[in-house]
Amino acid sequence: MAEYNTPTSEPEFHANFAQLKPRMNRTEALFESSRCLFCFDAPCIKACPSGIDVPQFIRQINTGNTTGAARTIYEANYFGNACGKVCPTEVLCEGACVYNLQDMKPIEIGRLQSFATREAIEQDKKLFSAGPPNGRKVAIIGAGPAGVSAACELRSLGYEVDVFEAKAQPSGLTVYGVAPYKITNEEVLAEMAYLEAQFGFRVQYNQPITSRRELEALEESYDAVFLGIGLGLTNPLHLPGEERANCVGAVEFIEQLRQRHHQTAVGRKVIVLGGGNTAMDAASESARLGAEDVILAYRRGKEEMGAYEFEYDLAKGVGVKGLFNVAPVEIMGNGKVEGVKFIRTATLNGQVQPVAGTEFVEPCDMVIKATGQAKQLHLLRLIPGLQIDGKGRIVADERTGQTTNPKYFTSGDARNGGAEVVNASAEAKAAARGIHEYLSAGL
Ligand SMILES: Cc1cc2nc3c(=O)[nH]c(=O)nc-3n(C[C@H](O)[C@H](O)[C@H](O)COP(=O)(O)OP(=O)(O)OC[C@H]3O[C@@H](n4cnc5c(N)ncnc54)[C@H](O)[C@@H]3O)c2cc1C
Ligand code: SF4
Repeated sequence: MAEYNTPTSEPEFHANFAQLKPRMNRTEALFESSRCLFCFDAPCIKACPSGIDVPQFIRQINTGNTTGAARTIYEANYFGNACGKVCPTEVLCEGACVYNLQDMKPIEIGRLQSFATREAIEQDKKLFSAGPPNGRKVAIIGAGPAGVSAACELRSLGYEVDVFEAKAQPSGLTVYGVAPYKITNEEVLAEMAYLEAQFGFRVQYNQPITSRRELEALEESYDAVFLGIGLGLTNPLHLPGEERANCVGAVEFIEQLRQRHHQTAVGRKVIVLGGGNTAMDAASESARLGAEDVILAYRRGKEEMGAYEFEYDLAKGVGVKGLFNVAPVEIMGNGKVEGVKFIRTATLNGQVQPVAGTEFVEPCDMVIKATGQAKQLHLLRLIPGLQIDGKGRIVADERTGQTTNPKYFTSGDARNGGAEVVNASAEAKAAARGIHEYLSAGL
């Protein structure tokens, strides 16, 4: 395999992780926007979880009103620039474009969206400001897409907002998890700085909320608390040998990649365990870091993978090979990973069953477990009356995001169990409105 040499410098890293949706120049944006048919009852709007008026912003780009286009986008989605680059547009807005019915290339909605918002960010266009102070305060735990979007909306409604973030940078998985060939750290952080300046919320970094005492302090000092904590670390597999060096969780591996770029160590032969989008990302990323062989191992068949088809195609395109209907039994090695013992599987009545006597060892020097993220139950259990469903998701009102403890609201991965940036952003805007409705009742 080895389609990529191991990058040893920032330029080499950026070459291996070149942007899948590069920035459009003005000519490209004018040409692409001119292709839009401005459909009545546009399907792209319905397919966008944040309901952006896509034909409207495309028309604005086409008539030279790029700032107006950025406003249209941001009014619906505070992560407008990031979403233009990281949304799975193939299954959302672009997948719904009527051009698909004619087997023609859909409008590049995501790139147009990033074109307009990037210009607004770079030119520091003043599109929004905080609403007149209403004398009320909201605490937000987590500065990911959910937390930051809630902060923007609450500021526009006149609330004082303090965000408490465990990590050193804002945007959650947008900067710590999304594949670097979708968006660069600089681009993510520029949008965060822009939003913070527009709306004036305060973020306290390196400030995890972990104890009942800290929660009590928030409950006493704030009128409402928004939980935008997302999910946790990679789920353990509980396999013998899992503790061996070079057997790592995908979320932890990708976080390192996002922060350390070419200084991230990767094996020569990597086995990625899992069949979801994170597994596809980890496999593609390993290949782009210069691994000679990358195998994606999944316990069911190829068609049953949870990942989007285009994400699997992307991984195959960089040389990743699939190994299907196998389940890991043991991580082999002597201190360090030397292979994975698998057993072949068959699916009977929808259940994966091991096939006796079919064990084999696939040698490798690194294992990446892409087996889902754990829920942050330790924190959630410290909140009195907070209901959590059987899958570890916070139970909350669909429309308002209010939890079963009326002072707490939530949205994003912690509530939906793990979706996309656009979902977290859209749901948080609604939850901020829910907080406003709750705190305005009886005034
Ligand atoms: C590997 C990977 C790749 C992905 N790729 C894409 C993609 O390409 N496109 C896409 O649209 N979506 C992608 N997603 C999904 C997307 O990133 C999430 O749906 C989205 O970030 C969820 O936003 P959130 O705010 O709910 O949670 P998060 O982004 O997880 O943010 C939660 C924030 O809360 C902070 N926090 C947690 N606990 C505490 C605490 N106790 N105190 C203080 N702060 C705390 C965290 O540090 C974090 O900053 C990906 C996810 C993963 C794991
Ligand atoms: S936010 Fe995402 S899904 Fe919605 S229009 Fe933009 S790129 Fe498409």
